[in-house]
Amino acid sequence: HLDRARIAIETHARLVPDFPEPGVAFKDLTPVLAAADGLDALTAALADACAGADLIAGIDARGFLLGGAIAHRLGIGVVAVRKGGKLPPPVIGVDYALEYGSARLEIPASGIDFHGRRVAVVDDVLATGGTIAATLALLAEVGAEVTDVAVVMELDGFPGRDVITAAAPVRVHTLCTG
Ligand code: AMP
Repeated sequence: HLDRARIAIETHARLVPDFPEPGVAFKDLTPVLAAADGLDALTAALADACAGADLIAGIDARGFLLGGAIAHRLGIGVVAVRKGGKLPPPVIGVDYALEYGSARLEIPASGIDFHGRRVAVVDDVLATGGTIAATLALLAEVGAEVTDVAVVMELDGFPGRDVITAAAPVRVHTLCTG
């Protein structure tokens, strides 16, 4: 599955220089998801990484697309970790720093029993690790046990993996570096 995923990424991914700010090399995986073979290859490889979970948490916004497809493959549920202000109350939120700017993430504080759930966190790109570390903090607050973090692309020269493993004892799976 990993080889197929890497070929799909090489075939379809796009590099956008200076977006959303000068100096940022934006890795656009949108065309990989839009290709039938790309979505299948990515979600097959990421589902292998998430096999022990009983709930997928997909991070806003490409993590939603990946997370739903992975959860469906594994026969488990999915929850969206959303940017601030989108979810109805009550919510639990956290503010955190990004590679560019700052942001807030929220999950529902009611209606989903997170306690003791084995959760795998899914996103497209890992850079500073701030987004996933914030997600781990949120999920810890509601009593979930995050076992795995699964990301398509780990950016070279960023400490994301170390930031995540310092935040919680999780396995970090990435399909490629870039
Ligand atoms: P970070 O919290 O720095 O690890 O950033 C991860 C989040 O920001 C992910 O949701 C990515 O979609 C997005 N992101 C950060 N940097 C990039 C980049 N260079 N290319 C594409 N997406 C990025």
